Amino acid sequence: MKKKQRVLVLFCGGTIVMEEKEDGSLAVPDSEESAIKILREVEPRLSAIADYDIEFIANIDSTNITPTDWDRILRCIKGNYRRYDGFVLTHGTDTMAYTAAALSVSIKNLGKPIVLTGSQIPAIRIESDARRNLVNAFRVAIMPYSGVFIVFDRRIISGSRATKASESSLDAFRSVNGDDAGEISVDIRMKSQVKKRISEPHDIEIYPGFESDIFIHTLSPGCDPGDLEFLLDRENIKGFIIRAYGTGNIPYGFENFFRKARARNLPVIVTSQCLYGKTLMNMYEVGRRALTMGVIEGGAQSLEILCAKLMWALRHAPDEIDRIIKEEIE
Ligand code: ASP
Repeated sequence: MKKKQRVLVLFCGGTIVMEEKEDGSLAVPDSEESAIKILREVEPRLSAIADYDIEFIANIDSTNITPTDWDRILRCIKGNYRRYDGFVLTHGTDTMAYTAAALSVSIKNLGKPIVLTGSQIPAIRIESDARRNLVNAFRVAIMPYSGVFIVFDRRIISGSRATKASESSLDAFRSVNGDDAGEISVDIRMKSQVKKRISEPHDIEIYPGFESDIFIHTLSPGCDPGDLEFLLDRENIKGFIIRAYGTGNIPYGFENFFRKARARNLPVIVTSQCLYGKTLMNMYEVGRRALTMGVIEGGAQSLEILCAKLMWALRHAPDEIDRIIKEEIE
């Protein structure tokens, strides 16, 4: 008989285990035990798919997640890597795409699936999407593929491309500027380009540590570049992301900011604020001008992955930020 596969669930809280408080708001249960009990009761037959254990990471609304939690997740996966065939992270949806991006950036030589999932409706409600998402996350976690994925509703999305696109639709996530990694219908279909699982025993490398003090600025007509210059006086800010217009266009007047940021060796990444935008900064003079002043083009990448790459690179390779931002992640 074929040996049953093993999955490690990393518990990070989120709506999936939330309860309604007296004032009508949703929050995670006060005790870790009750929260994990709710998760276990989502589908009592989960072990028909894989034997599993649960490791506690955090019992939080994912709004409150920090890079310290990411480091904890990384160390937990590393410490248990050989013992399990796949990993499922149950996580709130609000920052799930950031966590998926952070894991995609900071794990090397990954040969197994790491699957993030959660739900839009608490598991304790009859209409919840928790059961379907959790069951499908388990199914993907034992498949012959490797990589960081978000499994949600009918989509399997690469962890380096995901964004939360709807606050209420059960089909909440999208791939930014690219195709999903796979689709869940009667069966699960992965795209042919998804990396295969490494079947021989192997280890992963993890590189925890993210610089959280970065500043993301969205341009709006007439916004004052002086505000950003003012921020340069704050010693602790280590890097900027500018959500520019269209193909990465920035109005006149930001030159001083770019000059000063450069003098202080602070990276400035430019992304597009368009819903499906990529930067093509050479296209217009207003983009090209910024480019010649040393900003880094974000290209077709999501805000989440740019953010994770910048936070990670600032800690691990501050002299190679340009290369890291532009590097493709599988
Ligand atoms: N605020 C919740 C969280 O991110 C939303 C959710 O899980 O759907 O934890």
